[in-house]
Amino acid sequence: MRLCALSVDLDEIPNYFAIHGLDTAASGGRGLSAVYDVAVGRLLDLAEEERVPLTLFAIGSDLERPENRETLRGAHLRGHEIANHTLDHRYDLVRLGRDAIAAQIAGGVDAVRAAVGEAPVGFRAPGYTITDEVFDLLQEMGVRYDSSVFPCPAYWALKATAIGFYSARGRPTRSIVDTPNVLRAPTRPYFVGRPYWRRGTGMLELPIQVTPKLRLQFIGTTVTMAGPTGARRLAKMCVGEQLVNLELHGIDVLDERDGLEALAPHQIDVRVARERKLAAIRAVVAALREEGYDFVTMREAAGKFV
Ligand SMILES: [Zn+2]
Repeated sequence: MRLCALSVDLDEIPNYFAIHGLDTAASGGRGLSAVYDVAVGRLLDLAEEERVPLTLFAIGSDLERPENRETLRGAHLRGHEIANHTLDHRYDLVRLGRDAIAAQIAGGVDAVRAAVGEAPVGFRAPGYTITDEVFDLLQEMGVRYDSSVFPCPAYWALKATAIGFYSARGRPTRSIVDTPNVLRAPTRPYFVGRPYWRRGTGMLELPIQVTPKLRLQFIGTTVTMAGPTGARRLAKMCVGEQLVNLELHGIDVLDERDGLEALAPHQIDVRVARERKLAAIRAVVAALREEGYDFVTMREAAGKFV
């Protein structure tokens, strides 16, 4: 079995201001809805040209905006899967307490259902941070698969360092750091146990992709920063995996010219030309396709691991 699922978290631009501890006023009102207004269209064009289905993880509160609902409905009608990325994308989701966590999950489900006419079956937590409590709630609510676990040592260390850096400069970031135990989690699809980083008989987890052995992160940021040649090399490192679960973000197909000038000094990937980023994503698709990979939605992938 050789499957590849391309998923895209539709984190809207204000989330990036929050990560860097910046006020959205710095944008001058530009680019704040560039993910729904620009990135989704680019991704759907790419998906159509490459003949790959996407799985879009939507944040429920973004769907209060009628244009965003329309955009998402369009993607759904073109056969892409729409999944749940919580109601408000609270980076501190796991610290909110059981009732508020349940409301965040259910609110995301309701918003997606209202927008596209079908309830989502998949879930991804904000910032890759998840706990047994969240897994319990997902299971109670009948969620079919989760894709939040990111067992990547380099990413974990980078995030911990960044959070320390921001707080030292008096710019508290909204990010929170996960337990290092997540690094003990399987790197391939598994049924979660208790604690969730052990195997068990709980719900299906489709971990965010890392390369086998070295466990380098294989996500949108690394792909787009690597450029087409580097991205192709990273993709080839994953050949042999039953599922390559490549997680992108809407911002991965945007650049400074999309109204993101205020973010560019803080976020290096925004400075990479979108043409180069799109070429890098296409290079991954080509590299895996020539190795016999089939492109599927996350829901379809989950169906193979029952
Ligand atoms: Zn997100």
